Amino acid sequence: MYAPKDKKELITPVRLGLQSRFTFTCDKDMACFTKCCRDIYIILTPCDIIRIKNKLEMDSAEFLAGFTRPGKIDNTELPVPVLKTLEDEDKTCPFLTKEEGCSIYDARPATCRYYPIGAGIFHNKDEAADERFFALIKEGHCLGHDLGEERTVAEWRTNQGLDDYDDVNAGWIELILKRKSLGPFVTIPDKTLQMFFMACYNLDAFRRFVFESRFLDVFDVPEDQLNKMKEDDIALLDFATKWLKKTLFGEGDIAIKEKVVEGDSIET
Ligand code: SF4
Ligand code: SF4
Repeated sequence: MYAPKDKKELITPVRLGLQSRFTFTCDKDMACFTKCCRDIYIILTPCDIIRIKNKLEMDSAEFLAGFTRPGKIDNTELPVPVLKTLEDEDKTCPFLTKEEGCSIYDARPATCRYYPIGAGIFHNKDEAADERFFALIKEGHCLGHDLGEERTVAEWRTNQGLDDYDDVNAGWIELILKRKSLGPFVTIPDKTLQMFFMACYNLDAFRRFVFESRFLDVFDVPEDQLNKMKEDDIALLDFATKWLKKTLFGEGDIAIKEKVVEGDSIET
């Protein structure tokens, strides 16, 4: 999720576990304040997009068009939005302000919350559970290392509010790991990739797709779940990832109405 700005500058990507300890501090008075907000590569998770677009009071399509560019999830054809930097020399984050730093601080992406930790997860075929991994990223411009409090990675995650992000992104991560486990010789049609993009990232469009197309003539969704999905982006994302699991992998418990005949389809 995190790519260092200048690989020559990178001193140590030290592999860590949840209980590994590291010493780090960061505050507005440091000489390096906001240097980490330039020359960035930040992929946005579904939870990031929900929080930022709601903070900015924007429709998801408007947010994606204005603040992101297309990317792909590592080793897959799955699309992912990448935060678009300003077109200045420093490739500055569009949310950086001179005086106050991050203008969306309480909605900042998971990658920014993790920093200076890089985080990832991979599917281990031989193990029952998927494996998380973390790395300590030391870049020359960042003066916070070896200062302040010593903490475990788990404590840092809690302190940065990352547990909530994991819960919201769980279905999306499951889809990515499932896709990876199929290997490189399986291909997903473009139309399905477009559905993946809409359902994971462009949630306001997905909501219109559910409620304003023939979707509900085809899929049987309980009334109380539908009511939540109308108002609540997180409930909608939860349904969206379950629907994608059914569409992409034929798995899960999204029900199809009995009267739907074979070959019946809905247009996206
Ligand atoms: S979102 Fe905020 S914390 Fe993250 S790079 Fe941009 S300004 Fe910095
Ligand atoms: S200490 Fe590191 S993370 Fe904090 S402002 Fe400086 S460069 Fe950014």
